[in-house]
Amino acid sequence: MSIFTIVAGARPNFMKIAPIIHAFQNQQKAGVDVQFRLVHTGQHYDKKMSGDFFDQLNIPEPNANLGGGGGTQAEQTAAIMVAFEKELMEHRPDLVIVVGDVTSTLACSIAAKKLQIDVAHVEGGIRSGDLSMPEEINRMVTDSITDHFFTTSEIANANLRKAGVSEEKIHFVGNTMIDTLMDQMPNFRKPEGEIFENLTPGNYFVMTMHRPANVDQEQSLKAMIDAILEGTGGLPIFFPVHPRTAKNLQNLGIQAPNLHLCEPLGYLEFNYLVKNAKGVITDSGGVTEETSVMNVPCVTLRNNTERAETIHMGTNELVGTDPKKLKPYLEKIMKGEWKQYQGIPLWDGKTAQRIVDILIKTYD
Ligand code: UDP
Repeated sequence: MSIFTIVAGARPNFMKIAPIIHAFQNQQKAGVDVQFRLVHTGQHYDKKMSGDFFDQLNIPEPNANLGGGGGTQAEQTAAIMVAFEKELMEHRPDLVIVVGDVTSTLACSIAAKKLQIDVAHVEGGIRSGDLSMPEEINRMVTDSITDHFFTTSEIANANLRKAGVSEEKIHFVGNTMIDTLMDQMPNFRKPEGEIFENLTPGNYFVMTMHRPANVDQEQSLKAMIDAILEGTGGLPIFFPVHPRTAKNLQNLGIQAPNLHLCEPLGYLEFNYLVKNAKGVITDSGGVTEETSVMNVPCVTLRNNTERAETIHMGTNELVGTDPKKLKPYLEKIMKGEWKQYQGIPLWDGKTAQRIVDILIKTYD
């Protein structure tokens, strides 16, 4: 019998692990002798950034919660490593599955590999080349010790080949975040609350911002929001505010009648808003994948991306972090002249099944 430990720690992880867990559960129901343990590192611990996703995405209660939230990058990495090493010594699996690019991904892959346990990285191989982002460091370190790379794009495959990774370790399977999106689309629902009551589909914008480059300096955050307000012609803008962004935004006290701030939304509510939006303005990575598949115009407030396929084949455009560059992009969205989603290979809702089939075969 094979035993797999699945790690999740922060918001963008939960959408990526849900379909993998469901695929394992399906195998178990079909009589395959396989076991998994779900470990929550506790990196994101509040209800809005974690608990709600377990309910909405049918993720079972974790078998262990490491309580590794809070503190600096190093404190968090260290706390998760110490707790995860203990977890692995008590419940040694055949393989640890990490997803994405958060601190937990890095910490848990190192702890596993040092105990000579194999590591699979779901969403391996993507690169922005921007070492000022902690996520890029997490990707590079994780991929340097990964045994099985489950990749989302040909670009990721090429990056891995260039780094000398041998072909048999690269499994081009698609995107588990899109599995979740396709699975949950029939359940999307309008968020509750007064600000959402009169929203007209196709006639509002959604924005999210949480990258340090955009939100840590109050004045640049203000300049960007001013540029967004100017370019969106008075249409309602819904802005679920990430905890990282909340304090500076509050200090700025920006108010505009059409700018509607709210707490982070549940997955079903957030993607209801995105699906029906005129456009999305974001610095998130995952959101650019979801907007692409839902064919919703998306502008990314970053100078680079590790998901170039969302630009080449999706609906994403890279605007950068200079507010002055935003105007022509918003004009295009306002005029309805945006590019259409072309389809991205293997983003078909069946990725998790492919991953689990490969793992069960490999660790039989
Ligand atoms: N998301 C959500 N509620 C929100 C904002 C985002 O459920 O209020 C979801 C979104 O649909 C996507 C994921 O969170 O699935 C993206 O997470 P985030 O932007 O935190 O991380 P990134 O993708 O930038 O790493």
